[in-house]
Amino acid sequence: MNNQDNFDNFYHITLILIYIYVIIENITKLTINKSNIYFTPIAIIIGYLFGDFLSGIYHYFMDTYDFYILRDVHKYFRVHHDNPLSMEKYPLISTITEILPLGIVFGIISSHIFAKHPLLLLASIISNIIMCSAQIAHRYAHRRTHEFDKNGNKQYHIPEFIKFLQDKHIILNNKEHRKHHLTEVMNYCISNSNSSFILDKLIDIFNFPISTYKNSNNIHTYQKTSEKSDIINKYLK
Ligand SMILES: [Zn+2]
Ligand SMILES: [Zn+2]
Repeated sequence: MNNQDNFDNFYHITLILIYIYVIIENITKLTINKSNIYFTPIAIIIGYLFGDFLSGIYHYFMDTYDFYILRDVHKYFRVHHDNPLSMEKYPLISTITEILPLGIVFGIISSHIFAKHPLLLLASIISNIIMCSAQIAHRYAHRRTHEFDKNGNKQYHIPEFIKFLQDKHIILNNKEHRKHHLTEVMNYCISNSNSSFILDKLIDIFNFPISTYKNSNNIHTYQKTSEKSDIINKYLK
């Protein structure tokens, strides 16, 4: 292990520890009592769906636009479309920590804003954790698709409980995510994809741009919803 590896490990472990601290600090402000206990499951479900929705917004933004200062991140997302196993070039810990800086900021802000609103704070804690799990769930979805190589040899070990969560669509299911890779214009949410239909609907309603990079590295932005359905019909029907 060289100095760079030591520094990288120090960086990743520090981020994880700060993130855990921020989440625990949020949890200590939770006051669930008799008056709000019945709404607790609703807050958990909303947090679960909202965290996935946030992962979709981030993914949609990176896929669709091309801001100069974020050029490397846009490129990272496009390379992934060309090579769905692109994340495997990096150690697992870097995937785990990829979204944590945003999660830390999110946690610090929500701990202050929602300090006196326990149900909103609970929803924000759950959505923070779900949002931060997006890339690791995404990586495991691709591992599931490529669990065996072309010769039938196992190339990725996927723990049984991960497969169970994938099969029950509690975390990102590989077949569900495949629709995004086939069309590139739908199913942007990558934590569990259960909020994808909401984001897809909003994109349609507000006629937000959508982009696809098939067969080229150039950006091709489709503005019309009718073109989107043509693409979906072409690749999914
Ligand atoms: Zn994408
Ligand atoms: Zn993917």
